[in-house]
Amino acid sequence: MHNVVIVGSGPAGLTAAIYTARANLSPFMVEGAQAGGQLILTTDVENYPGFPTGIMGPQLIQDMRAQAERFGTTFQAADVTKIDFSRRPFTLTINDEETIQAKSIIISTGASANLLGLPSESRLLGHGVSTCATCDGFFFRGQPITVIGGGDSAMEEATFLTKFASHVTVIHRRDKLRASKIMQDRAKKNEKLSFRWNSFVEEVMGDDVVTGLRLRDSITNQTDELECKGVFVAIGHTPNTQIFRGQIDMDANGYIQTSHGTATNVHGVFAAGDVQDSHYRQAITAAGTGCMAAMDAERFLETGD
Ligand code: NAP
Repeated sequence: MHNVVIVGSGPAGLTAAIYTARANLSPFMVEGAQAGGQLILTTDVENYPGFPTGIMGPQLIQDMRAQAERFGTTFQAADVTKIDFSRRPFTLTINDEETIQAKSIIISTGASANLLGLPSESRLLGHGVSTCATCDGFFFRGQPITVIGGGDSAMEEATFLTKFASHVTVIHRRDKLRASKIMQDRAKKNEKLSFRWNSFVEEVMGDDVVTGLRLRDSITNQTDELECKGVFVAIGHTPNTQIFRGQIDMDANGYIQTSHGTATNVHGVFAAGDVQDSHYRQAITAAGTGCMAAMDAERFLETGD
C-alpha cells in the first residue's frame, strides 16, 4: 500500500515526487513508456529558471529524477495499464501483470504533441523540428521558419515566431484555416508571414539539421522545395488520458479537469502538468503544478480533505 503513486515522469511528476518524498511520504512513481516526457525530445532548454547558460532537456530530467531519488522516491519503469478509482484505496494495474494500491494518486501523464509521422521529422526533432515556439523560436533568429497547421496554435506560433524569423511561412493542407477569425486576421496582417495553401509536407530535408521542406501541392500534385531552418509542427496535442476515460472528469478534448489547485472530481486523485493544461504547456508551469499536487496530496493524506 503506497501513500502516493505518481503516474508519469515529466517535470510535473518529478516535482511532485521531490515534494512528496521530502514530506516523508515515500512516493512510488510509475514512469511510463516514454519516461521523462516531452523534455526528452528537446535539446537546449533556455527558459527554465536557474540555468543561465541553458541545459539540455534530457539532462534537466535526469537531474530532477536524481533529486527525487535522493529523498526516497521509488521508480518503476513501466506503464499503468488499468486503474480503478471506484473505491479507496485505489488500484492500479502495471504492465497488465501486477496490481498496486494507493491511498492517493497524482496523474502527470502529460500530453503528446501530434506529429506528421514522417521518419525525417522524428530524426530531426530537436535539430530544427520543434513542437514548441515559446521554447525554441529564439534559436532561429534571422532565419526562415515554417509552421505546419491551420488552427489557433499554428496562428499563434507563427505570429510569435515573426519576432525572430526573417520570414515565417505557414503550410496548411487545405485552403481554409480552422483558426478563429481574430487569430487569422492577426496572422494575415503580419508582413513577415505568408501562407502556402493545399500543401503537404513530404519530407523534412537535412542531414544533421533542417535545411528545408519538400512540399506537395494537393491541387496540382507538383512538388517543390522550400528553404527553412526551423519547422514548427502545430497540428494539435493529445493528452495522455486514455486509461482514465470514464473514471474521472475530462473536458471535450480529453484534458483532466481540476479545481481548487490540482483536485480532480475523485477525492484523493490529483492532476498536474500538461495532462490538465492545454494552454501554458511549459516545463516550468508543469513543475509548478507538480509542487501544488504534492502539497494537495499531503494535505489529503493528513486530513482526508
Ligand atoms: P486544432 O484546432 O485541432 O488544429 C489543428 C490544425 O492542424 C488544423 O488546421 C488541421 O488541419 C491541422 N492538421 C491536423 N493534422 C494534420 C496533419 N496530419 N497534417 C497536416 N495538418 C494537420 O489544434 P490547435 O490549433 O492546437 O488548437 C487546439 C485547441 O486549442 C483549439 O480549440 C484552439 O481553439 C485552442 N487554442 C486557442 C488559442 C487561443 O485562443 N489563444 C491558442 C491555441 C490553441 P485541418 O484544418 O485541415 O483539419
